[in-house]
Amino acid sequence: MSLMEQLIRIPLSVLTPPVCQVCGGRSGGKPVCDSCLEKLEGLRLPVSGFEPINSVLEAIYAPYRFDSVAADIVHLFKYSGLKSMGKLMARKMSEVLDGERFDCIAEVPLFAARRRERGFSQTLLLAIWISELSGIKHRRLLVRTRYTPPQARIKDHSRRFANVKNAFALNVSPNEVENRRILLVDDVSTTGATLNEAAMPLVEAGAASVSAVVFAVAG
Ligand SMILES: [Zn+2]
Repeated sequence: MSLMEQLIRIPLSVLTPPVCQVCGGRSGGKPVCDSCLEKLEGLRLPVSGFEPINSVLEAIYAPYRFDSVAADIVHLFKYSGLKSMGKLMARKMSEVLDGERFDCIAEVPLFAARRRERGFSQTLLLAIWISELSGIKHRRLLVRTRYTPPQARIKDHSRRFANVKNAFALNVSPNEVENRRILLVDDVSTTGATLNEAAMPLVEAGAASVSAVVFAVAG
């Protein structure tokens, strides 16, 4: 499916929501009302970039903890295709990258069948919008090579790592990755297992560094 097709598949009716999409209250035409935005800001993390433990990732950047309003926003984008929520996420994710230098931005890809089922890839759209906001070049560096059950359904930490093992491969030639500082984009991270596994082919291809940005971290 082409990128344009993916963008078109998001229904037009959701582009101009009249009420707050999170609480359903009056919002003055904004997708999220001031009260919900205030609650979201209450989920701000103390540090936006932190070093993950036992990971090949150099850092994970995230504006928020995955809780209440943050979870609503992620679900409204991911499962209801509400573009305005994705745009909000991309804006907040770009803000925490302020001053950081990357050569290339790439999404954690969905498996092709999952993307078809959903009609769009939320991580691809986030990567494109963050690229537009930050000026970092976007490339589709990775493909998902097999179906993996959703991480959210797996409670055990070690099983989450096993679930995504070898699930990603390079989508470009290794010389397009070599010596580059790469930023991976995903919506949410819990154990960091998916991000770490997605970083593997990039590290193996000789990336100078691989970091990640997500909208919210859970757990
Ligand atoms: Zn609201």
